[in-house]
Amino acid sequence: MSLKKTTIRHRYNYDFLQDLCKENGIELLKDYSLEKVNRELRIKAKCLIIGCVNNVEKTIRNIVKNGGCYCKTHTKENKYEKSKNSDWNNTNRIRYNTKYFINYCKENNIILLKDYSDVKINRETIIEAKCFTIDCMNICSKTLRNIVHSSSCYCYNCTVVLGKEKRKKHL
Ligand SMILES: [Zn+2]
Ligand SMILES: [Zn+2]
Repeated sequence: MSLKKTTIRHRYNYDFLQDLCKENGIELLKDYSLEKVNRELRIKAKCLIIGCVNNVEKTIRNIVKNGGCYCKTHTKENKYEKSKNSDWNNTNRIRYNTKYFINYCKENNIILLKDYSDVKINRETIIEAKCFTIDCMNICSKTLRNIVHSSSCYCYNCTVVLGKEKRKKHL
């Protein structure tokens, strides 16, 4: 997970730490306001993966340079996911993990019908969400890849109807 550019200012003081945490959603487990903050300070924080109960103990430098505030397990997993999905990441800047997915749904007004915060998501995970059509009571059940690629989330019926309309336009 790349950190936001604005935080990479290279002045590693307490303000920097505050900004870093705010901008990246890092939850510190200790108060560092009275500590001498520099880039070699080991900080204790929660792992950024939703639902992960592991703590992170890393130097600030490590968090900034090595892709974020993740526990050992998830640091490894991120590296793996990155290499596995690198072609996707490059073209769509998409990471198929739970955090990304939940944000994606928020940004695209996708109403999930299940709690996915504890589900390990990848691009082949079948997602159940409310159909995009207003007043349609059907469920959209598609793989994450499918939803992201079509940037829509319609039930089977609506997908068929929309497909027909599209074809009509092209005639
Ligand atoms: Zn973790
Ligand atoms: Zn529908």
